[in-house]
Formats: sequence, structure tokens, C-alpha cells
Amino acid sequence: MSKNSVFIYSDAFQTYKFHDRHPFNQLRVKLTYDLLQTVGALHDSQIVAPRLATDEELALVHDMDYIEAVKKAGKGLLSEEIAINYGLGTEDTPIFPNMHEASALLVGGTLTAVDYVLSGKAEHALSLGGGLHHGFRGKASGFCIYNDSSVAIKYMQEKYGVRVLYVDTDAHHGDGVQWTFYDDPNVCTFSIHETGRYLFPGTGNVNERGQGKGYGYSFNIPVDAFTEDESWLAAYKDALMEIADFFRPDVILTQNGVDAHYYDPLTHLCATMRIYREIPKLAHQIAHQYCNGRWIAVGGGGYDIWRVVPRAWALLWLEMTEQSDISGPLPKEWIARWQQHSPVSLPLEWDDPDDLYPPIPRKAEITEKNAQTVMKALQPIRSNKQRLNL
Ligand SMILES: [Zn+2]
Repeated sequence: MSKNSVFIYSDAFQTYKFHDRHPFNQLRVKLTYDLLQTVGALHDSQIVAPRLATDEELALVHDMDYIEAVKKAGKGLLSEEIAINYGLGTEDTPIFPNMHEASALLVGGTLTAVDYVLSGKAEHALSLGGGLHHGFRGKASGFCIYNDSSVAIKYMQEKYGVRVLYVDTDAHHGDGVQWTFYDDPNVCTFSIHETGRYLFPGTGNVNERGQGKGYGYSFNIPVDAFTEDESWLAAYKDALMEIADFFRPDVILTQNGVDAHYYDPLTHLCATMRIYREIPKLAHQIAHQYCNGRWIAVGGGGYDIWRVVPRAWALLWLEMTEQSDISGPLPKEWIARWQQHSPVSLPLEWDDPDDLYPPIPRKAEITEKNAQTVMKALQPIRSNKQRLNL
């Protein structure tokens, strides 16, 4: 079953860096890479360097004047007044040197993953530098300059003529990707995220279902704040299985933001490492069931870069390469190497303890609410099935 998987990686992913105090920190990709190498689960033959996306590729989604603005900004040649129209120079997306090149490399990493999988050179591919799902056609937003998933999906459509299922498990709504394909029935987007009531970007309501020919191909499950593993997983599994069966994709692209974890400083969900074992399992199953194995996975959010991201993203690769039986203590060498750099105590085990956080008083209410949201989100699929008597 596991022909081969590739891991797209370069230290140069870290050139995508706003500044030292910004929450988006690509050191997490290196921490993951180092953890996997330390446990012997990532071999040199599996590692592929990312390429740069060309301007033409970026322009599959982004406006040319925006691309030019990003280039100028990265050279210090864009005035503040003009920059702000493009979402550049804000608190979320400050300008940094060579930001065009750094951003184009993240997109190129995802395109490299796409080419490996769709040319048949690999069955699955992982590019943790990508997952920048808030990037818009002509505007930076939410730590994202270019939207690698959107570009990759357009690229797959044009070059390979495939129908794509995009699955986004980041705690934030995958707005950039959703709006890019909102009227396209050949791309199905599914985002499960913390409700936008209190959280950026505020969208991702269950009633956002697509428009025109694309109506019915956009799915959203906004879960309540303080949602825990069980309720989150029930929603994810029920929804994804039904959506995959409804859409029957040629390829699955998963965005693996890991900011739904209890430790994440930017969100209000109460997930543990348990969901990061389960998320890739189902994605993997669907890839084989519907897509002849074709699965591309990218990174995304994740702002506890020490305690959460390396373990969660390593588990994604371990599932992809069928090594997910690994558990127990994390390697001592890895902890010793990075503890001195970390402001918090690194975890000692792959999995979180059962008492990671105190009991959530509104648990039953939250669980019930989420179940209703899933019903609402899947209602069109279910009533259609009923109509056809399936
Ligand atoms: Zn996020």
C-alpha cells in the first residue's frame, strides 16, 4: 500500500519570517524534521527540496499587481500607503526582506508535492512549509502572503485536470481557499474550525455553501469554543466520510494547521494530541478509497511551536508512511537539543496526559451544539440521498 511518500523540506522555509516576536515561526518545520530524523522515521531518500513558484504559477490565483507589490515591499520599495491596500505592513503581515522569494518558496514546496503525487512518482507528499490558507487574490491576510493551496489546486486543474477535495482542519476557517473556489463544482472545500464568533477570520458559517455552479460544494463546520477531542473527532469523521463519498475526488489535499490544541495561544479549543493521530488516519483512508492513493498534505497554523507542532506534524508523516504505531517517550537527544532554546518545558511523551487541562463545565452543551452543526452542514447531502432513496 505505501509505495512511497516524499517529504518536501529545506531550511530555507525559515526565510518566511516576519520578525522575532511574530507568532508565525517556521522553526517548527525544522523541529519536526529533526524529531523525525532522530527517531529514524525520515530518510534522505524521502526528502525533496522545494522549488520556487514562478510568477505565472502565482498568477493562477493572485493578481499581477499584488505580486509586484509583494516584490517591491520585500525590497523596501513600496510606500506604506500603497502597501496597506494589499494587506502588507499590518500587524498580522508585516513587511520583511525578500518576502516575495520566501513566500514563493512555500508555494513552490506545495507545487513540488503536487508534481510528485500527480506524476505518479510518489503516492503521498507532505510539504509542511505550506498551508497558508488566508491568502487572497490581491491581499495578504492572517500571516499569509500567497495562498499555496489555492495555487496548487488551480495548477492541478490546469495541468492534470483533476477534481480536488480540500480538507482544512486548522482552528481558523480556510477562507482564502474557500472563496477562490466558491463557484467551482470541481473543487470541494471542507473546513472544520472554531466558530468565527470570536476568532479570526470570522467567516466559515455553516450556511456558506458555495454559489452558482459551485453551490453545495463548500462545507463548513464551525465548532464551539472549548470543544474537546471526542466532539471534534465525531464532527470531523462524520462530515469527511460523507463529503468524500458525495464528491468522489481524484485527489485529496489536506491543510494540517495544528492550532486546535489546548496549548495553542491564539485559539480557544481543547484538543489534544489524540486528534492529530486521528486526522491523518482518515485522510489516508480516503486517499486510498477514492483517489488511488493521491494525497498531498501541507502545514498551516500552529503557534505552540515547542510543545504541539513538532509532535503533531511528526504524527502526520508517521501516518502517511505507516509508522504510526510509535508512542511512549520522545527521544532524549531531541529534547536535549532543543530544551535550551525553548521558553517552556518540552513534553516528554508523544501523547498528552489525560489530565492536560481541567474539566470543561459546558461539555454536554458544546457536544450537543456541535452535533447539530454537523447535521446542518450535511443536510443537503443527506436529503439528496433520501430523495434518491439511497
Ligand atoms: Zn489557524
